[in-house]
Order: sequence, then C-alpha cells, then structure tokens
Amino acid sequence: MPIDHSQEAGPARRFRPSQLPRPASIRLLQTFIILVCAAILGLEGWRDLTEHEKALEDAEVQMANLARSLRQHAEDTFEMTDYALAAVIDLLQANGTSREAMENLHSVLVNRVSLLPRIREIAVYGPDGSWLASSSQEILPDKSNQGDKGFFVHHRNSLSRRPYFAPPDRSRPLGERITTISRRFSKPDGSFGGVVVAVLDPSYFVRFYSQFDIGKHGSITLLSKDGTLLARVPYLETYPGVEPSRASPIVERLSRSPSGSFRLHSPIDGVSRVLGYDSGSYFPFFVVAGVSRSEALADWRREILVRGTGIGILVGAIGILGWRLVVQSRRRERAEAKLAILARTDGLTGLANRRSFDEQLAKEWYRSVRDRAPLSLVLVDIDRFKQFNDTYGHQAGDDCLRAVARAVRQVARRPADLPARYGGEEIVLLLPATGPEGAAKIAERLRSSVEAMAIPHAGNQPKGVVTVSVGTATLHLKPETAGERCDTLISLADSALYDAKRQGRNRVVMAAPGAIPA
Ligand code: GH3
Ligand code: MG
Ligand code: MG
Repeated sequence: MPIDHSQEAGPARRFRPSQLPRPASIRLLQTFIILVCAAILGLEGWRDLTEHEKALEDAEVQMANLARSLRQHAEDTFEMTDYALAAVIDLLQANGTSREAMENLHSVLVNRVSLLPRIREIAVYGPDGSWLASSSQEILPDKSNQGDKGFFVHHRNSLSRRPYFAPPDRSRPLGERITTISRRFSKPDGSFGGVVVAVLDPSYFVRFYSQFDIGKHGSITLLSKDGTLLARVPYLETYPGVEPSRASPIVERLSRSPSGSFRLHSPIDGVSRVLGYDSGSYFPFFVVAGVSRSEALADWRREILVRGTGIGILVGAIGILGWRLVVQSRRRERAEAKLAILARTDGLTGLANRRSFDEQLAKEWYRSVRDRAPLSLVLVDIDRFKQFNDTYGHQAGDDCLRAVARAVRQVARRPADLPARYGGEEIVLLLPATGPEGAAKIAERLRSSVEAMAIPHAGNQPKGVVTVSVGTATLHLKPETAGERCDTLISLADSALYDAKRQGRNRVVMAAPGAIPA
C-alpha cells in the first residue's frame, strides 16, 4: 500500500522548523523594534521641520530689525540734508541772489558739503532754471538749465515749502544714479525765486550697507516707494528698478503694510531670500534687507547633519541589535519547539510516546463526554515477537517494530487519530469520535496490512510472517457517567487483545461495547 503522508497525524509527522508558527512574542518584539525606530525617526523628523521653520522665522525677524534700523538711518540722512537746504534758503532770503551773494554762498556750500559726506552737491537755480551757485569744486558742476527737470517744475508750480524728493535718476553729466532733495525759495516780494537742490551720494549708502554681515548672497536695497533703486549691496547695474518697477513683489507688499518680512525667490539674481522691509512715513523711501535662505539655514543644516548622523547610528544600532535579538529568539523558539516535539515522540518509531498518549487520551476522554461522542482505542501487539528477536536479532526486531508503526500510521487517517507507542512492542491507536464498527474496520485493515508486508517470521506459524493481534474497545460515555476513569478504555482494549492472543493470534477482537470491567 503506498504511503499517504497527508494522512500522517500528530507527532508522527516529520518535524520541519520552517513550518512552525512564528510565536507571538517574536512578532511583538519585531513590532516593538519597528515602532521604537519609527518613533525616533518620526520625532526627529518633526523636530527638524519645526526647527527649519524657526530658523527661517528668526531670519525674518533679524532682517525686519535690520531694515528698520537702516530705514531710520536713511531718514536721518534725508533730514540732515533737508536741514542743510533750509539753512541755505535762510541765507538766500537774507542776502538775495546777487553775484557777490552767490560767491559768498559758494564757500558756505563748499563748507557744508565737506561736513556732510552723504551730500554730494548742493546747487542753487534761479527762477528760470539757470545755475546760480553750487558746492562743486572738483566735480564738473551741472550748469545746464534745470528748468525742464521734474523737481524744478514741481517747485515752480507749487507754493509748498516742503522738501521734494525726486525719484532716483541718472545725473546728466556723470551718468550716475542719484536722487535729489530740493526746496523752493522766494524773492522778497514772495514770488518764485528759484530752487535749492541737494544731490545725495548713493555710494555713501553702499559704503554704509557694505559694513553689515548679511552673508555671501544677502542684499540690502534702498528704494523709492515706487520701486526705483537708489542703492544696493551687492551692486547691480542691471537692477530693473532703475525704472519704476510696476510688478515688483516688494512694492506690492509695501502697499499692504509699511513694514514686514517675507520670503522670495528673486527674479533678478535667482537667489531665494528671507527679506525684511521697512518704510518711513514722511520720506518716500524704504529699505529691504535680505539674507539668502540657504545661509539662514546654515546652522540648522549643520545641526541636522550632526544630529541626523547620531540618530542614524542609534536607529541602525537598535535595528541591528533588534534584528539579532529576533533571529536569536526565533532560533531559541524553534529549538524549544523541536525539544517539545522530541519530548513527546518515541525515538524508535517516530510515533507519539506514552506520556503524550496519556495526555491526549485524557483530553479526548473529556471531549467525548462533552460531545457525547464515542471514543475508541485499538491496542496492537506483535505476535511472538520475543521469538522474532531471538531468531533475527534485536536490530531486525527494531526494523520490524518500525514497519508495524508505519502501518499503524497509515491506517490512522483523520487528523485527530493518534497512533502511539504504548510500551515494548505494543502500539496503540486512539480514535476519537469513532464507533466500535469503525474501530474494528481500522483494526482489521491494520492487521491485514501487517500480514501483507510479509516480513518473514519462521517462529510465527502457521503464517510464517509477522502478524499482529489487535484488541479494540469503544466507550460512549454521557456526562452522568463521566466519573469513569479513562483507564477503563485501556483495560477493555487490553482484555480484548488478550482474547485475540488466546484465540490463536493474528486476529482482531472487539471488547463488548461499553462494557466496563469490575
Ligand atoms: P505474544 O505473541 O504473546 O505477544 O508473544 P511475545 O513474544 O510477543 O510476547 P510479549 O509481547 O510479551 O513480548 C515482548 C517482547 O518484545 C519482549 C522484547 O523482546 C520485545 N521487545 C519489546 N520492546 C522491544 C524493542 O524496542 N525492540 C525490540 N527489538 N524488541 C522489543
Ligand atoms: Mg507484548
Ligand atoms: Mg507480543
């Protein structure tokens, strides 16, 4: 009969570690390690993101503060220049614009400008825009008629004595970008006497702004409120704000709030910056200070690198140690499971051993009572085995025992059927939920299959081959009779086996159903 391994039951099956279920403790350990690593990485990531944002916010505050102080500085410059203009007007109104008065005024102007390096030149123009006097000595004075210039037209048409800030422009003779502050003055009769104009030196602002540490790609810009550039560090010849820039995002922000901060990818030089800006209320200028985003994040990046390396090593170490722990635990669990199986297995036949059988019998006994199901036992004993050993040797006896065990295993078809070595050359087969007819059928199948193996046994006449005697017993207990000991089933099967031996061996004898010996 071919061996059908799928029919093998209980401990009789071959032991394969890979088939062992992964114990819950190992899964728990794996989950714990993954959770710890994920928690460390998650917290670190969250912290990095928070600090990234904080670094940018700090840079915004710094830039806004810098813009505020530079705006104050620009206002001080404009105020000083305006005071100088007011003093010149006082002189003009006291002394008039005669040639002699103009010559005297020239030295006053030269003196004033030399004291105030932020002013490049102060010039006086008559009511028709013609040049009257200026502070210029080395520089070629712009003696051309200023009648058509914006500032001049403004004062001629306005009686206001307030200073006028011209939008930054290129000076006619030098081609440099300049801005002017001007005031009108009146003749003694109150009519328009002309204009006093001060040219601010933009390089003064550039020099001043260059002293601030704003990193390699930072920038400081002084602009008029319409977005026209007056001074910038680093210097940019092609800055589009030379002309009023209509779509400048900075001017657009200025229209919403007089001061603040924001982040911008510069369309001019392609640098992403964190910017702060501030505008004065009286003077039509504002200052924008910016530091490049990458420089604002330099400290953060350095810290991330150091901390990230540390965290990476920590998580790696936890991962590696955890993995090794899991591998070791798995090995140990498998070894323990293997030992547990070995402890329940008979070494010679590979069947369940006596201890395992006793435990299983007790379990199935109570289950059969609970389920009101019959429980059968088949007890097998090799005929004249002592003689077999004597004739063929102990080694051959072992082989024979193994062959009979195999035969028992093959007839135990259901998963709950339990074949076990009961002791010596006796093998037992526990058959849960099996009635007397089923047990007898299995017993007979076993008997005939052993006989059919035709293992020579000269001392076992008349067949001359190895045969077995089988006793079967079945109990069908109810809860009321559950007090009976499960030994009863063994005693019954043993008696039946004894009868089989007595009746001539190589046969199956069924104990009387449900009979309980006294
Ligand atoms: P019977 O037909 O009445 O059963 O006669 P028998 O000789 O088989 O008698 P019994 O069952 O009492 O004999 C048991 C013998 O089985 C004794 C021993 O020599 C042999 N035996 C028990 N265990 C082993 C074993 O593990 N290996 C071998 N080779 N022989 C065993
Ligand atoms: Mg025996
Ligand atoms: Mg025997």
